[in-house]
Amino acid sequence: MDKLIFSFSNKSLKNNAKSKEILGGKGANLAQMAKLGLPVPPGFTISTKVCEYFYKNNKKIPKKIIKQVKKEIKITEKITKKLFGDLSNPLLLSVRSGSRVSMPGMMDTVLNLGLNDKTVIALKNKTENGRFAKDSYRRFIQMYGNVVLGIQSHFFEELIENYKLTKGVLQDTELDENDWDGLIQNFKDLVKEKNKKDFPQDVNEQLLGAIRAVFLSWDSKRAKIYRKINYIPDHWGTAVNIQAMVFGNMGQDCATGVAFTRNPSTGSKELFGEYLINAQGEDVVAGTRTPMNIINMGKSMPKIFKQLKKIFKELETKYKDMQDIEFTVENKKLWMLQTRSGKRTAKAAIKIAVDMVKEKLITNKQAVLRVDPNILDTLLHPTLDEKAEKIIIASGLPASPGAASGKVTFSSDEAERLKEQMQNTILVRIETSPEDINGMHASQGILTARGGMTSHAAVVARGMGKPCVSGSNEIKIDYEKKLFKAGSIEIKEGDIITIDGGSGKVMLGEIPTVKPDISGDFSKLMAWADKYRKLKVRTNSETPVDTKTGRDFGAEGIGLCRTEHMFFDEKRIISVREMILSNTPEDRKAALTKLLPYQKSDFFEIFKIMNGLPVTVRLLDPPLHEFLPKTDKDIYDISKELNISHQDVKFRITELHEDNPMLGHRGCRLGISFPEIYEMQCQAIFEALAQCKKKKIKLVIPEIMIPFVSTAAEIEILRNLVDKTAQKIQKTHSIKIKYYVGTMIELPRAALRANDIAKYADFFSFGTNDLTQTTFGISRDDSGKFLNDYVENKIFNKDPFVSIDERGVGELIKIAAERGRKQKKSLKLGICGEHGGDPASIEFCEKAKLNYVSCSPYRVPIARLAAAQAYLKKK
Ligand code: ADP
Ligand code: MG
Ligand code: MG
Repeated sequence: MDKLIFSFSNKSLKNNAKSKEILGGKGANLAQMAKLGLPVPPGFTISTKVCEYFYKNNKKIPKKIIKQVKKEIKITEKITKKLFGDLSNPLLLSVRSGSRVSMPGMMDTVLNLGLNDKTVIALKNKTENGRFAKDSYRRFIQMYGNVVLGIQSHFFEELIENYKLTKGVLQDTELDENDWDGLIQNFKDLVKEKNKKDFPQDVNEQLLGAIRAVFLSWDSKRAKIYRKINYIPDHWGTAVNIQAMVFGNMGQDCATGVAFTRNPSTGSKELFGEYLINAQGEDVVAGTRTPMNIINMGKSMPKIFKQLKKIFKELETKYKDMQDIEFTVENKKLWMLQTRSGKRTAKAAIKIAVDMVKEKLITNKQAVLRVDPNILDTLLHPTLDEKAEKIIIASGLPASPGAASGKVTFSSDEAERLKEQMQNTILVRIETSPEDINGMHASQGILTARGGMTSHAAVVARGMGKPCVSGSNEIKIDYEKKLFKAGSIEIKEGDIITIDGGSGKVMLGEIPTVKPDISGDFSKLMAWADKYRKLKVRTNSETPVDTKTGRDFGAEGIGLCRTEHMFFDEKRIISVREMILSNTPEDRKAALTKLLPYQKSDFFEIFKIMNGLPVTVRLLDPPLHEFLPKTDKDIYDISKELNISHQDVKFRITELHEDNPMLGHRGCRLGISFPEIYEMQCQAIFEALAQCKKKKIKLVIPEIMIPFVSTAAEIEILRNLVDKTAQKIQKTHSIKIKYYVGTMIELPRAALRANDIAKYADFFSFGTNDLTQTTFGISRDDSGKFLNDYVENKIFNKDPFVSIDERGVGELIKIAAERGRKQKKSLKLGICGEHGGDPASIEFCEKAKLNYVSCSPYRVPIARLAAAQAYLKKK
C-alpha cells in the first residue's frame, strides 16, 4: 500500500500537482512552507487516498491509519514538548480539511482539540492564563459540537449573546474567566440535551470524531454544490491535516490574521489583509468582530509586521503568484498557518499577471496561461455610467468589483426562485455563510451588513466574479419584516437597488451602464495571447452594434451572420408574412422584392464595419411558421393588410404547423422548395458588395453558408444557385467578386459524408448546437427537464450544450474534418454556436486542427485567450 500519512517535515515532498493530489492544497503548502524554513506549527497530513477508502468502505477509518496517526502524534509531542491529553502540559491540535483545490469555507475544521474538564485546568496552570484556557475550551465545545456532533452553531451563539445581554457587555473580549466557565457549563448542557450524551472527555475519541467529521464534510450539501458550480470531481476527496495549535487568544501580544500579498480586488502591489488582537481562528472571517487593516500592524506589532512582509515576498518568489495567507501570533511569535494562490477578480488577475512579467517573476507565456479565460466575462460587461444620476443610500466595503442591479431578496431560496423566473436579484444578508452559496450563485450581486474584505461573502463573491458590497453597517436588516433601512429610507423585498462593488456604494433603482475599458494591462495580455494562438477568432453577429462590439474586442471576421433575425423587424415582418402566405412563386417573388432592399442595406452596414474581413452569411434557416402571427389580433391585422381572408390565414398557419420543427422544413430544405428565397438573399449579398465597391469600401469576402445540409446533392443544387446569382450580379454591375460557398455541418450524416459534401463546399462550419442536439437526440429546448438528473447521476460531466462532448460530437467533428480535407485540402474549418466561446471546447478545436472559432461578441476576448492557452498547452 502507498504511504498514507505524511509529516510536514518530510523533506522528500515536491512542490507539484501530484503532491497536492495526495496531500490536498493546504497540506502540500504547509509542508512546502516548513521546507522553506518558515515557522509552521508541526503536524502531519492524512492523504486524500484515505478519504477515498473511507467512502468505499462504509465510512470506516482503517485501524492501520489510527495506529500511524498515534505514531505521528508522538513526533509532534516531541517537537512541541507537550503531550496529547496530558494533565500538566497538554498538546492541543487542530484538525483541518483540505482538498486538491481550495474550497474556502466549504469543509470543516476543528480547533483546540484535546481539551476536556481536566486538561483545561492544566492549560490554565501551565499558561497562568485562566481566561485564555476557558475561552479555548468553550471554542472547542462549540466547534466540535457543531462540526462533529451536528448541533447548529446558532444555539451556541445565542447562549453567548444572552449571556452578554445579562451582563450588559457588547464584546466577547469583555467576558472574563468566570463568564466563560459559566458558558462552558451551558454549552455542555446544550450538547447533552441535543446529543443525549455527555461531551466526550476522551481525547482520542475526540480526535477520531474530528477526522471522521472532516471526511464527512467532503460530502456535505454545501461542498457538493460548490464542486458542482466549479466542476470539481466528487471522487477527489479531502485530506486531513492534524497540527499543533498555536494561540492568538492568549492576550494583547497575540493576534490572528488573513492577508494577501497583493490586493486581490485591484491587483495592486500592496499588502492587503486584516487581523484581530487576542483572537483565534475564524474570528477574522466570520464577521463577529470587525477586524483591523493589516497596515495597522506596522504600529501595533512592528517586528512581526516586518517579518510578515519578508515572508510574503519569499512566498511570492517561491510560488510565483499572489498568495492568500493565514497567520497567528502567539506571545510575539509569528506562526504561518496557510498559504495558497489567492482568489482574485478578473481585473486583479490580469494586473498581477502583467506586473509579474514586468518583475521578471514569470514569462509572458506563463502570464497568458495564468489567467482563467472564463473570468474575463466579468470585465467585459458594462460598468456604471459615471454621468448617470444616482441616489446613494448606503455604502460599505468594495469587496468585489462590478455593478449589479436587481430586486432585493433576503434569502437564498428566494434568490433561486427568482432566478428561475429570469429575474435579477441582489442578495441582502447580515452576513453570509457557506449555506448561502446557492443564493449567491443565483443572484446578480451580494450586499452584507457585516464582515470585512476577507469575509465569507467577499471571498466567495470574488471567486464567482460577482459584485459584492460587504460590511455596510449603515443598513439595518429586518429578516422578519423583509426589509432593510438605510438611514430614513426603507427598502422592501422586491424593490430594485444597484450595488457597485468597486466603490462600495449602494444605490436606489437601476443605474444605467457603459462599456468597459479594455486598454492597458488587458490589451497587453491580449497581445501576448494573440502572439501564441493559431486559431482565428471570429464573432457571431447580425447587427451593426454587435459587429462593432466584436471588432472592438478583436474579432477577425464574422463566423455566423444569421439572416433570419433581420426579418423580424417590425417593418419587414409584413413582407415576410406576405411571402410566406403567397400561393404562387410569382406572388412570393413580388414579396421578396420588397424585402431585398432591407436585406441589402443590412449587409452593406455590416460589410462596411468588417472592412475586408471574412463574413460568413448563413442563408435562411428556421422553418417559415416561426415568422407567422401567433395572436388573434396579429392574424386579424395581417389578413387586413394583405387582403386575405381571416380564414385563409388561419388555414395556412395550420398547414405550416410542424410537430417537430427542429427536424422540419428548415435550412437548405427551404432553399430546395423555395429557391427564390435564397436567390434574393444572395442577390442582396452581392449587391451590397457592389455598393461597397462604389463607395470605395474594402470588399469583405463573403462566405455563403447553406444550413442543415445532410447530402451532397443538396449543396450541389444550392451552390449552383449561388454561383448563377453571383454571375448575374457581376455582369450587371460589371465587377469581379470573390466569394466562397460552404455548409454548416450540423447533422451526423453530413459529418460522415463530408468527403462528398466537400466536393461542393469551400468551407465547413460546425454548427455544434444542432450537431449536439442531433447526435444525442436531445432537444435543447426540452433538455432542461432532465439535464440536472444527468449531471447528478454523472451521466454527463457538463451540460453538452455548454461544453462540447468530445467523445461523441467531437468524434463526428474529427471525422468530418479529416474526410473533408482529404477531398479538398484547402477546405476551411470553423465552429460557430455556443461552444465557440467556451474555453474547454476551444481547447478541443485546437486539437481538432480547426481554422477558427466564432462566438458572441462579448466572448471574443475569452476565445482569444483560450485559443492561446489551448495552443500552449498542446505544445
Ligand atoms: P479553511 O480551509 O476553512 O480556511 P482552516 O483549516 O484554514 O480552514 O482553518 C480555519 C482557521 O483556523 C485558520 O484560518 C486559522 O486561523 C485557524 N487554525 C487552523 N489551524 C490552526 C492551528 N494549528 N493553530 C491555530 N489556529 C489554527
Ligand atoms: Mg484557511
Ligand atoms: Mg443550426
